[in-house]
Amino acid sequence: MLLLCSNLHGRSIWVSLYNSLQVRSVVVSAYNGPLIVSVDGGVQYTIAAGQAVYATLCDGGIWISNMQGQTGSFKHVTVQGVDSSAIVRLRPVSPQAEARNYEEAVSLAADIDRIQLINRVDEERYIAGVIEAEAGQGRAREFYKAKAIICRTYLYGHIDRHENEGFHLCDEVHCQAYKGQCRGRNILPAVAATQGIILTDRKDSKPILATFHSNCGGETESAQNAWQNNLPYLAPVADPYCSSSSNARWQKTVSLDDWISYLVKNGYKLNPDVVTDFSFQQLRRIPNYTVNKFTMPVRQIRTDWQLRSTFFSIAVEDGNVLFRGRGYGHGVGLCQEGAMEMARRGFKYGEIISFYYKNVNLVPVNTLQIRVPEFD
Ligand SMILES: [Zn+2]
Ligand SMILES: [Zn+2]
Repeated sequence: MLLLCSNLHGRSIWVSLYNSLQVRSVVVSAYNGPLIVSVDGGVQYTIAAGQAVYATLCDGGIWISNMQGQTGSFKHVTVQGVDSSAIVRLRPVSPQAEARNYEEAVSLAADIDRIQLINRVDEERYIAGVIEAEAGQGRAREFYKAKAIICRTYLYGHIDRHENEGFHLCDEVHCQAYKGQCRGRNILPAVAATQGIILTDRKDSKPILATFHSNCGGETESAQNAWQNNLPYLAPVADPYCSSSSNARWQKTVSLDDWISYLVKNGYKLNPDVVTDFSFQQLRRIPNYTVNKFTMPVRQIRTDWQLRSTFFSIAVEDGNVLFRGRGYGHGVGLCQEGAMEMARRGFKYGEIISFYYKNVNLVPVNTLQIRVPEFD
């Protein structure tokens, strides 16, 4: 595994850590190997394996204190291993958050109301971390390969998203969830096997919007219906692979009175003299719920009632409205549970990708003209 890791040599990606937390105090420890701490002007401390330093925001600087009580206030602090096996462990204490392990280097910079934490990490290690955060361990190798290509496509399609803030991507779902070092045994080899490959639109050779979701319920949704975004490679696909997965079906019950007042609030004109059928059926995905002549987007109903998907039918039973739903998520692009099942059945990653994304190419990213912001 170590050999494989050292064969990964992509670009260094800067990822903002605990991005939405506003960390003001954090414990930095050497989970593996000694770490070198460089501060403004190059003064260095060493953190021995198992030891820690405390970093706290104070008067516009970062106070660093170690076990020996040495302290100082600095604007910029960088922590990195003496070799590639070193791991930097972060545990925010104000506010408190779960501890996470990071490879390569972590920098700390004093900002007005927070310590800006950035992991400078090889892009392929970053991608492996994203895959583990988003899809977990124990999946089939070909699924991880497809996922690696999707995460890498996202990275290069959004690489300037946080340029003004001094990093490439954040570690939240706003960009891609990233919780540091990948530990899944199958993931790094799958990333290495697809190293540098991304998906481009056959029409303009740009990285596609490689969206994915948990379960499509048997049919993926078009980007046009979901977001009024005309992206022909995100077209509906009938998916026979996800129907026995955990997120294939859901149900929710709402009282009929609540349902009617909701519709009225949204412009439905109730006529007490007419018996109205509020039921609704989607055998295939349709964009709107319709009752009498009133219509509203299923997308809005999903948001308002916090439903798992827009792919639902409605039955009225005993004074209640019963939603019978299929799938989980927006339904656009790759269906993760379907892709996992395809991989289990022996499909290769190229087949999985071309099943869910239409008219796309698999291209080495270094053959494309993509501007990558550089920071220092
Ligand atoms: Zn972001
Ligand atoms: Zn599916």
